[in-house]
Amino acid sequence: MTRVVVVGGGISGLVAARAVGRRPGIEALVLEGASRTGGKLRRETVAGVAVDVGAEAMLHRRPEGGALAAELGVPLVHPTGATSRVWWGDELRPLPRSLMGVPMDLSALESSGLLTPAGLAAVRAEPRLPTTTLDADVSVAELVGGRLGPEVVDRLVEPLLGGVYAGHAAEISVRAAVPQLVAMANRGSLLEQALALPTSTTPVFAGLEGGMGRLPALIEEAGDFAVRRDAMVRGLRRSGSGYRLVVGSADRPEEIAADAVILAVPAAPAARLLGDLAPEAARRLSGIDTASVVVVTFAFRVADLAGHPSLDGGVSGFLVPPSQGRRVKAATFSFAKWAWVRAAGGGDVVHLRTSLGRHGEATALQATDEELVAWSLQDLAAATGLVAEPVDVHVQRWGGALPQYAVGHLERVAAIRADVGAIPGLAVCGASYDGVGIPACIGSALRAAADVLR
Ligand SMILES: Cc1cc2nc3c(=O)[nH]c(=O)nc-3n(C[C@H](O)[C@H](O)[C@H](O)COP(=O)(O)OP(=O)(O)OC[C@H]3O[C@@H](n4cnc5c(N)ncnc54)[C@H](O)[C@@H]3O)c2cc1C
Repeated sequence: MTRVVVVGGGISGLVAARAVGRRPGIEALVLEGASRTGGKLRRETVAGVAVDVGAEAMLHRRPEGGALAAELGVPLVHPTGATSRVWWGDELRPLPRSLMGVPMDLSALESSGLLTPAGLAAVRAEPRLPTTTLDADVSVAELVGGRLGPEVVDRLVEPLLGGVYAGHAAEISVRAAVPQLVAMANRGSLLEQALALPTSTTPVFAGLEGGMGRLPALIEEAGDFAVRRDAMVRGLRRSGSGYRLVVGSADRPEEIAADAVILAVPAAPAARLLGDLAPEAARRLSGIDTASVVVVTFAFRVADLAGHPSLDGGVSGFLVPPSQGRRVKAATFSFAKWAWVRAAGGGDVVHLRTSLGRHGEATALQATDEELVAWSLQDLAAATGLVAEPVDVHVQRWGGALPQYAVGHLERVAAIRADVGAIPGLAVCGASYDGVGIPACIGSALRAAADVLR
């Protein structure tokens, strides 16, 4: 038997272990440092209902998530038709359809009231600009703002990027985060091409009834690999043609042998483990910054929502541009977005969640639970009018959870893969490489599995 050890039992590690473990003659073992697998896919019980306190949806227009669910025999569910808002000024305004801020519907943009007449004029003038020559990577703000004006960046791009990366438009690489925009920019007007994009009937997002946090257990139950929890890997070295991994405390270390190793951990632990083996990869990994976020989940009595139109089920939540100076960066009205969440509340309680924290801000993570709850309630009250005592609250801190794809990210990842790939039987995968979303993580895990199998 060939033994492949996967370090890290988040979605990436579990998918990689499943992919290698299904091959005849291969024994796959996941070493997970925490007491539970799943990483950022996690559920907690709030007012008697298990709800997601980490990732809660996956992009359905990428195939990897749906394919995995189909293999596992678990049906997907899609969000209801409730629509998103942007909290701008004192109002929740409709979030107009866009491709990372590039409008796909000009009349919706105009009627949203998000842009000033001058901001709208800048958008309409974009097709007359000369084609942008992109020789090198630039930030999303530089490309989109340079063509469509600063208001689009402030009021559309920033809240959207804040939602996905908890990052800032002036820092995030357009090539890594929104490669479609680069292809479009090379062809000419972003606006004209975005307006011409066909309206798809495929739902953009999917989830699982009961929450995305069910996925890790479903992958494990499929039984193609073994898992050891509370097994924080502290060292990795070559031994003959294979590897030795060190787990356990410093005074009681335990060595585990492997023929091949997949590192499915965030950039910082990957850098530490690769320090001696692949110093260039380790150096590049340690340069990947992260953002910390907090998710506060509330359960309210159904009766408390009465009289608040934005909480009538038609609105799925809101995003907040950082320039608005609010504490929360987004809110998801889970009861309105997911039919199963509403049903699970049994007609008595409804669940919704806020998220706080962006790259470069330590405030959210340093605040006490009481402060985080109070700030969330203040912002919810100001945005929706809801002033009520929650039935239950849960605070989930995600320190260093979201890697920031800075300008030049693709070159960085290529250099990491080149350095790691030069060592036989070693591969890396996870949110730090090809996309932070679940489908992208699955894709990177399958790639790492194929690399070590080769
Ligand atoms: C609040 C939040 C909301 C999100 N929402 C969405 C969403 O709705 N849709 C979406 O597509 N994406 C979402 N994401 C992003 C997505 O969830 C993550 O990028 C993805 O789950 C990361 O998976 P991963 O396996 O690469 O890493 P992780 O989930 O970080 O897993 C890594 C695992 O490695 C373990 N580990 C670390 N070091 C060691 C070590 N030395 N030894 C052993 N084990 C170790 C950790 O304990 C962890 O379990 C969200 C992220 C956050 C934080």
